[in-house]
This record gives sequence, C-alpha cells and structure tokens, in this order.
Amino acid sequence: MIYDKEKYKIWNWKSPVILHWIINPGLVINELILGQTIPKVMLIEREGDKPFIQRSLIPCPHCGELHSGLKYSAQNKTAIKNWFGFYCDKCTKIIPVQRNLTSLLVLIMTFPIWGWFRNSLKQSWLDKQPERYKNLNLELVTPQMTTKNWLKMGLAWGLFMYLTMVFIFPFIMQEEITQKSMLIGIPIWLIGGLGFGFTMKIWMNKKAR
Ligand SMILES: [Zn+2]
Repeated sequence: MIYDKEKYKIWNWKSPVILHWIINPGLVINELILGQTIPKVMLIEREGDKPFIQRSLIPCPHCGELHSGLKYSAQNKTAIKNWFGFYCDKCTKIIPVQRNLTSLLVLIMTFPIWGWFRNSLKQSWLDKQPERYKNLNLELVTPQMTTKNWLKMGLAWGLFMYLTMVFIFPFIMQEEITQKSMLIGIPIWLIGGLGFGFTMKIWMNKKAR
C-alpha cells in the first residue's frame, strides 16, 4: 500500500522501536505467552501534540482502514492476547505483525507440536475477536509515563528475564547454572530491560516535532 509520506512518518522493521522488537530475545515471553505484538507497518502523524499512541496508526492492508493505536491498548484490554496478529474490526481480517526473532525460532522448533492445531487454534481465536472490539474507548485515559516509571518497568522486566533465563530455564532443562552464565546475564538483561522500558516510554508518550 502507498501512504502519504508528507502526513505520516512510516515505521517498518528499520525503525528503532520495531527493530528492537525483532532483536530483544526476552520479548519471546511477551509475544508467545502474553500475545503482545507489534504491527509490520505503522504510520505516525507528523503534526499535532497528542501523545504518541494517539498519533500512531495501524493500517489494515486488507481494507485500508487506519486504526488508532488506542484500539490495541492496555486501556481497552486489547494490548495482549493478539497471538495471530491485530484483528481488524472493519473487515474482520488479520493485520500482519512483526515477529520477534527468538519467538520465530521457538515457533519453528516447536512446529511439530502446535502445527497440527494451527487452523483450529486460529479459528477459535478469530471467533472471540469481534466481542473484544465492541466497547472501545478511543480517548486516552492512561497517564503519561514518567522517567521513573519506564526505568522501573524496564528493570523489573530485565530482572524477571534474568531470573528466568539464568536460573529457571537451565533448571528445567537440567543444565548446570554456572558463575559465567550468571555474570554474562547481568549486562544482557540490564540492556534488554532498559531497551524494553525505553521502547515502552517512546510508545506511550512521544510528542510530535
Ligand atoms: Zn481491515
């Protein structure tokens, strides 16, 4: 599809927020367990001083509708459980999403397990969608995210990932937990956590130029 570049800034995999979504390995949890995801293409309104989420639009490639970012947000309880993509409530099709690299690898490796149920899982997910988009509030009610908030959120997420990947995961796999993996894990999940928190901050309140 062709979008108005004068009016919108176009985000795809080359933009930092979506690129971060692809690279940060911890997002496998957000994506596969929570069903949090990011669209392949986003349009950001260049003009206006509305918070970022209100200026970010998610285009549906099937019907051309430009959905407000608030349609898929925590305040509408639609930010998660989007395992198959973003549901377009106009044409009932699915807006394609950008997969995280780690989730993609996990999905490929576990395909023999879930592949059999793929169609029935997708259909039952699809059947539940119209109900979720019936009573949307597209006015922003979520407060802006402060520096303290995003740092706390990022660090909490990083700590959770550190404990999961360094201790819980090796324990389940019956692998040895070494001092080396404990040390290497610190910078990785510190950076991963800050990246996550910072992306969420941009997402929540970036202002137009
Ligand atoms: Zn559509």
